[in-house]
Amino acid sequence: MKGIIFDIKHFAVHDGPGIRTTVFLKGCPLNCWWCHNPESQQLDPQVYQQTRKLDGLDFSETKTLGYTIDSTELMPKIIGDKVFHDESSGGVTFSGGEPLLQFSFLNELLVKSKNEGIHTAVDTTGYASPKIFQQVAQNADLFLFDLKLLDSNVHKKYTGVPSEPIIKNLMWLDKNNINTNIRFPVIPDITNTKENISQMLVFLESLQNINRIDILPFHNISNAKYERFKIENKMKNVAAFEESEMYTIKEEFEKIGFIVSIGG
Ligand code: SF4
Repeated sequence: MKGIIFDIKHFAVHDGPGIRTTVFLKGCPLNCWWCHNPESQQLDPQVYQQTRKLDGLDFSETKTLGYTIDSTELMPKIIGDKVFHDESSGGVTFSGGEPLLQFSFLNELLVKSKNEGIHTAVDTTGYASPKIFQQVAQNADLFLFDLKLLDSNVHKKYTGVPSEPIIKNLMWLDKNNINTNIRFPVIPDITNTKENISQMLVFLESLQNINRIDILPFHNISNAKYERFKIENKMKNVAAFEESEMYTIKEEFEKIGFIVSIGG
């Protein structure tokens, strides 16, 4: 089966345990204000202009982001890293975009990876129908689950979609004791408000089987991508966090019994 990806990162160390091969599937149903991979949101490959400076002159070239690939072509690129996965208790992570958007392709890759004895992780927004989500869960060893905002109206304002389906899928993972790490993007004045953090603390404390949170501080290193792909950048002038500012939030989650890391 064919799918559309936009990158493969070998030797990734922030996308799950150990050394991982991260495959980035294109397309996302969300439109987060702070998206660090805005080029991943559109499902189809995108043509763009890349300009480089050489001896004071600008050279522009036309490039395409994203390409169609068959799982039979992709699998050898994952299997080729298996020695590193095995040495480090790593594996493959399917990220995006939102990998569940290409659900059949994702499922095939998960099954093939598992058949090769490769640990599988899915980095997801959790925004998918329960039926699709639960099917994928049968073949994933770990979910890296983005939880951004609990209030549905606020979630919709900043991401374009409501939070209910996400919360429902997360509660299902918890109820079924499926290995899940929460990823909490800390975005100035959006997700790190007093209100959202207290709602998160109450909600997360009510979960029984999820015990790890990765706090992901906002950074603005993606500004150039917004310009390159001509996407409106609503966070253009927002300053990045210093890592030290994350310690207060870290402590709050630790107080309710979570293992917390900053940066994934
Ligand atoms: S869910 Fe992730 S990839 Fe999708 S728009 Fe939000 S930040 Fe970007």
